[in-house]
Amino acid sequence: MHNYWQKIVIKCLLISIFVSFFFTCIISILPISTDECVCNAKDNNSKNLPNTESSIWKKSEHKLAILVPFRDRFEELLTFAPHMKKFLDKQNINYHIFILHQTDKFRFNRASLINVGFIYVNKNFDYVAMHDVDLLPINDNLSYEYPDTGPFHISSPDLHPRYHYPTFIGGILLIKRDHFIIVNGMSNKYWGWGLEDDEFYVRLKEANLKVYRPKNISTGIHNTFKHIHDKNHRKRDMAKCFNQRDATRKRDRQTGLNNVSYKIDEVVNMTISNTHLTLLNIALICDKSLTPWCECISNRTNLTQKN
Ligand code: UDP
Ligand code: MN
Repeated sequence: MHNYWQKIVIKCLLISIFVSFFFTCIISILPISTDECVCNAKDNNSKNLPNTESSIWKKSEHKLAILVPFRDRFEELLTFAPHMKKFLDKQNINYHIFILHQTDKFRFNRASLINVGFIYVNKNFDYVAMHDVDLLPINDNLSYEYPDTGPFHISSPDLHPRYHYPTFIGGILLIKRDHFIIVNGMSNKYWGWGLEDDEFYVRLKEANLKVYRPKNISTGIHNTFKHIHDKNHRKRDMAKCFNQRDATRKRDRQTGLNNVSYKIDEVVNMTISNTHLTLLNIALICDKSLTPWCECISNRTNLTQKN
């Protein structure tokens, strides 16, 4: 009888050792925290961000595409890329830089390139910066955060080194996706330098979108941005031919995001001084019956059309 009870006790002991071993194994493979995951599908696409403070995540939850119209500005790009990385990393902005490289033989068309860049990034980004390659923000208080209430003109006329008229909206402008779509993007009629940004201002105004600008910046027009633009080396294409002068003074209701004509020939991911960026080789297509001035032949009579 004594032997019988001894056997039972040993069996019980063995079973309890096995059971506790089994549960220890199960517990050890469970996640450490059982807090609910607050991440969403968007975060899965995000770049790796520091996750030390939840406020940082909140700040960076919107994704910014920096759209840089570009042709023949390689030296400026070499300065721009690392500068922007340093500047935006300090603000914990979740961004990616897209260089919109115009490869066709037509005159430069900043606005159409921005339309193409927007279409390319549209589904994956929450807001865009239309960003000149030669304008570097140097005051850390210039915020690149999500412009929820209305377009945010970073290079405001009070701060831009060169342009000071009140309706100026060029240089650097942040705008969220919906707002860019509401106004049908930018006009495609502006080949050569100038006025495409002024036309865009009218689009925003007509759509009742209030333009916001930086507040409490004390650095003024000389020390808020660095404009790396030598006007002799990088000549502005101010030629006017055919009826360009008249046509580009009017609000364009014909063209925009919905009918920009182009082909993306190549997408190149590259790194410049530790900054990852994507270069799009874009061939714009010109409808010469609509905008014959996409090529100004070097005939003096055409170039000096009277006002
Ligand atoms: N740009 C370019 N190549 C050109 C003309 C313009 O890459 O041949 C781009 C570049 O991003 C530049 C922006 O368009 O910063 C605005 O042009 P620009 O600097 O000539 O105008 P500004 O604002 O100085 O009058
Ligand atoms: Mn410039």
